[in-house]
Amino acid sequence: MDALEVMSHLDQVMPAFQPIFSADEHRIIGYEVLGRFKDGEEIKSLGPFFEDEEVPEEYHLEVDCLLISKALDLYTDSNEQAMLFINCTAAILMKEDGEFFLQLLKSYESKGFKLEKVVLEISERDYRTNLEHLIRYYKTLGIRIAIDHLSENNANIHRLSGCAPDILKVNLDMLRSESANHNYNDFLYSLSMLARKIGASLLFESIEVEYQLQYAWKHGGRYYQGFYLEKPDLSFKPSEIMREKLRRKCQEFILHEKRSLEKVYMLAESIQNEIQTVVSRVMKQHDSKEYLLEELGKKFEMMCFRLYICDENGFELTPNYFKKSGEWIFQPEYFDKNWSWRPYFLENILKMRKNKRGLISDLYSDIETGELTRTFSYPLNEHEYLFMDISYEFLFEQDGLLY
Ligand code: CA
Repeated sequence: MDALEVMSHLDQVMPAFQPIFSADEHRIIGYEVLGRFKDGEEIKSLGPFFEDEEVPEEYHLEVDCLLISKALDLYTDSNEQAMLFINCTAAILMKEDGEFFLQLLKSYESKGFKLEKVVLEISERDYRTNLEHLIRYYKTLGIRIAIDHLSENNANIHRLSGCAPDILKVNLDMLRSESANHNYNDFLYSLSMLARKIGASLLFESIEVEYQLQYAWKHGGRYYQGFYLEKPDLSFKPSEIMREKLRRKCQEFILHEKRSLEKVYMLAESIQNEIQTVVSRVMKQHDSKEYLLEELGKKFEMMCFRLYICDENGFELTPNYFKKSGEWIFQPEYFDKNWSWRPYFLENILKMRKNKRGLISDLYSDIETGELTRTFSYPLNEHEYLFMDISYEFLFEQDGLLY
């Protein structure tokens, strides 16, 4: 897009509004303001103009301010009540030490506009710690902060917690099929943990197919945005426009998730029963723990690749019994190692002791083999706990267990 054409036809610059939906109410809770340029009958995105580094910064700034003003005009004129998500560059934020942007917003207060309706979208790339002070000040005025364009490539997402963002915005572009790459899943998982810790909500954007919506729902997305729901438009929409569809989809996701969980519980149930049988048979003959591991290895030949027993504090009472290239071996170097530092370890021991039943873990990557696994743990008695790592091949063959 030719920058001079834009600059000489500023009356053709206009905002478009893309609805953002909430997972808890299935209605529109806000709109992201996007830049458009009316070229004859055609409405073009101003994205290329803003991304073009050849364009002088003052041009960007001018068009940016114009867009925001026009968006605020339309917003106040239409008496819209949803939130307004405004993309904000560091340049516009820093102008006149932050006063310029604030005065721009405040100039609409006489038309009934409230600062609490504003969510500032600050790109991760633009985010600098010297903005923190300003952001914190804006927050005291009721303005909310969203960090935009979070991706796997963001080296250190934790530094963002300094500005206490309200929303973390994640693009689901990368995720077009169910065979999504595992690293991306891990990235989103840690992001959702971070969001939870710092009290931020996740907003998933670029939702273009149903699978992405399901993914967003499953990964703790509180807000959704994308073509699959609504395209950006020059006007605002009734807030209930997608309510029926979202509600229906949500019910499908719940059903699917429940079925998957049920499969996991059924597997846990059957492992529990089979271990019980082996344990009571072996205990009558022998009190060697290694012998018990060998017998369990035979029984669960097709399912597991590692077995060991720990005490209630996580110290290993046996070597690891490990299937290496199809052969079971004892690994004495694991004897007396301590695993209490692992996430959920002690919590799980207490659960097993209280319920006198085994537990199946969530899906995670094994620290040594790097493969996805689940661990089944089982209380042999008050002081001895059996751990059985389930192989990836087995989980893969059982529909629903890699979910
Ligand atoms: Ca944005």
